[in-house]
Amino acid sequence: MSYLVVKCPYCGDVRAVRAGVKSFQCFNCGKRIVFSLGLVLYKVDDKRLVPYVVMKFKEKVFKGC
Ligand SMILES: [Zn+2]
Repeated sequence: MSYLVVKCPYCGDVRAVRAGVKSFQCFNCGKRIVFSLGLVLYKVDDKRLVPYVVMKFKEKVFKGC
């Protein structure tokens, strides 16, 4: 099972979703977002790495704000 690290287009928060989802909900702003490939930041094949990768992208997103 692959996971995709995606960025919320509304608030910029980063989370992971399972590959193949049609939509997902942002944990931060609560909006339901229709999945599109343009939102994908990274693909993760090992579930154990998901929290680490999400954390790294959150650091990038919020750095300099
Ligand atoms: Zn959001």
